[in-house]
Amino acid sequence: MIFTVAIDGPAAAGKGTISRAVAERFGFAHLDTGILYRAVGRRVLDGDPAELAAATLRHRDIARDDLRTQAVAEAASQVAAMPEVRAALVAFQREFARRDGGAVLDGRDIGTVICPKAEVKIFVTASAEIRARRRYDELVASGQAADFDAVLGEVRARDARDMGRTDAPLKAAEDAVTLDTSALSIEEAVASATTIVEAGIAGR
Ligand code: C5P
Repeated sequence: MIFTVAIDGPAAAGKGTISRAVAERFGFAHLDTGILYRAVGRRVLDGDPAELAAATLRHRDIARDDLRTQAVAEAASQVAAMPEVRAALVAFQREFARRDGGAVLDGRDIGTVICPKAEVKIFVTASAEIRARRRYDELVASGQAADFDAVLGEVRARDARDMGRTDAPLKAAEDAVTLDTSALSIEEAVASATTIVEAGIAGR
């Protein structure tokens, strides 16, 4: 069965948690597409030109355990604004989306550019303050020093870059269902997304 669930939205809106839960619930494969841009950003921080890094991305680049830092997120968002970088990553994502057995992809442009014909599209969002609060709590819980205003500033800066770029800007596809998680628990957000996917499967 070919069935694609496209989940887009800004950083820390809950996309990752929702995507993993939906993939598990329906037995679909899951791809966090942000990891591709993070891996390119990491290689740029290590000295490689962005285009070359994207064109020669290897499994070991994606498997690194140091891609979840603020510096890499920042570098990812910068390389993600480069059309050559985005173009080099398209084919892999499209093949993943149409693999047999169903796929969930989460990112910024899955429903708009990578998979405009995805069977289900969900735009997961939340206010910048709530997203910054979640990020801040994660940092504190993992023992890292954090300043709420600085985290909020970073969230806003990344939103502005992701939404303002010319190539594949972050925005909801016209036929996406918007899921605002600002006032929802993780369980409630996952339950809402599951209902949306069930409706999509039933309506095929
Ligand atoms: O989702 P994550 O925070 O890991 O993404 C890191 C960055 O990669 C984002 O800020 C965005 O600039 C970029 N990205 C993108 N398109 C995607 C996924 C991520 O431009 N599909």
